[in-house]
Amino acid sequence: MESDVIVIGAGHNGLTCANYLAAKGLKVTVLEAAETVGGAAVTDEFLPGFRNSAASYTVSLLNPKVIRDLELERHGLKVVLRKTDNFLPGNGEYLLSGRNGLTRKEIARHSKKDAEGYDRYVADLEAVVALLKKWLLRAPPNVGARLSAIPKILTLGKDMAGLSLAETRVVHDFALRSATEVLERYFETDIVKALFGFDGVVGNFNSPNAPGSAYVLLHHLFGEAAGVPGAWGHAIGGMGSITQAMARSAREKGVDIVLGTRVEEIIVEKGKAAGVVAGGKAWRAATIVAGVNPKMLFDRLVPQGAVDPDVHSRMHHWKGESATFRMNVALSELPKFTVLPKKGDHLTAGIIMARALATCTRPGSTRSSMAGPRTRSSKC
Ligand SMILES: Cc1cc2nc3c(=O)[nH]c(=O)nc-3n(C[C@H](O)[C@H](O)[C@H](O)COP(=O)(O)OP(=O)(O)OC[C@H]3O[C@@H](n4cnc5c(N)ncnc54)[C@H](O)[C@@H]3O)c2cc1C
Repeated sequence: MESDVIVIGAGHNGLTCANYLAAKGLKVTVLEAAETVGGAAVTDEFLPGFRNSAASYTVSLLNPKVIRDLELERHGLKVVLRKTDNFLPGNGEYLLSGRNGLTRKEIARHSKKDAEGYDRYVADLEAVVALLKKWLLRAPPNVGARLSAIPKILTLGKDMAGLSLAETRVVHDFALRSATEVLERYFETDIVKALFGFDGVVGNFNSPNAPGSAYVLLHHLFGEAAGVPGAWGHAIGGMGSITQAMARSAREKGVDIVLGTRVEEIIVEKGKAAGVVAGGKAWRAATIVAGVNPKMLFDRLVPQGAVDPDVHSRMHHWKGESATFRMNVALSELPKFTVLPKKGDHLTAGIIMARALATCTRPGSTRSSMAGPRTRSSKC
C-alpha cells in the first residue's frame, strides 16, 4: 500500500519526524538500511557480555518537548544525571566538574581568580543560552523565500534588540570568535581552559583556535537532562533505549518501520520526489523525507540532473569529515589514575585527556604552547 510519507533512515531524527507526521494522521513508512533502528544512537553488545552505547553516549540535546510529545518515558526511556560530569587527569593534577557547586569548588582549588572568572562566564553564558533556547524550536527563516522570510528575520532581530549592549557583545563574541579567545578572557589556568575548551571541539572538526568555535561551547549547554538545564545524562540501557522508545511510539501510531532495506535511489518525476527504490522494488509516496547525511543524499540518492547543478555542486563539495574516533573497550576492572587512585564518582564521569587548549605542550614544560603549526615543536 502506498504511504503519504516515506522517511529514509531510522536514526533518531528520522524516527522523530515519522512520529510527528503520524501524529498528524499521515501514513508513514520508514526504510532503514540496518537491521536495527537508531543510527548513531544505538546500544550494542560489542563483545559477549559487554553492552554499550556504540557511538553517541550521553544525552542533553534531546529536547524535552520531543520526550513529552513522543511519550518516550511511557515507552521505556529513563535518563539519569551523571554523578560527576567530567574528570581531567593531568600532569600530577586533576580537575573535576559537576553540579551543586563542584565545578566552582574544583576550579578554586586551582585558581581563586579563575573561580571568579567562572562566575562571570556562567552569567554571560546564561544570557546567550536563553536567547538560543528561544530560537531552538523555531524553523529558521527560509532565505530562498525572500519576502516571506522577512517577518521571521524581524522577530529574530526583535529578540536581539531586547538585549543590553553588554549582552549583545557576548552574543557576538560567542557567535564569531574562537573558543580560545573567549576562554582566555575568563580563565588563566591551562587545565581550567581545557575543561571548557573540550566543549568547543566535541563534534567539531576544528581547533579551539578557529574562529566560530566559541559557538560550539554554547551548543553543548542549551540542552537539559532529567529536567536539569545544561546538564548531560545517561540513558538507562544506553543510547539505543532512546531510539527503541521512539520506534515503539512510532509503531503505536501506525508507522511501518522496515529494517534491512537500503534506499538505492530516489524516484523523481516532473521535478518532484515521488518515491524510492529499495530492496529491489519501488515504494511510492507523496512526500519523501531524508533522515540521512545530506551529502550522501545529494551524491548518491538523488539522481544525476534532478537538482539544479549549482545545488548539486555545493552539496558535493560540502565538507563532512569526521573528527570523532570511537573505540569500545572491554576492561577486566575499572581504570586507576595515579592522580586520583581511589574508586569514586570520577570513574562515572567523562574522562578527558586534555591538559591545555593547545594541541601540544613544549617538551619538559607543563605550560601549554599556544603556538600555531609554524612554530610547533616536531615532538608534538
Ligand atoms: C561516535 C559518535 C559519538 C557521538 N556522541 C554523541 C553524544 O554523546 N551525544 C549526542 O547528543 N550526540 C552525539 N553524537 C551525534 C549524534 O549521535 C548524531 O548527531 C545523531 O545520532 C544523528 O542522528 P540522525 O538520525 O540525524 O542520523 P543517523 O543516526 O546517522 O541515522 C541515519 C540512519 O539512516 C540509515 N541510512 C543511511 N543510509 C540509508 C539508506 N540509503 N537507506 C536507508 N537507511 C539509510 C542509517 O543506517 C541510520 O540508521 C555522536 C555521533 C557519533 C558518530
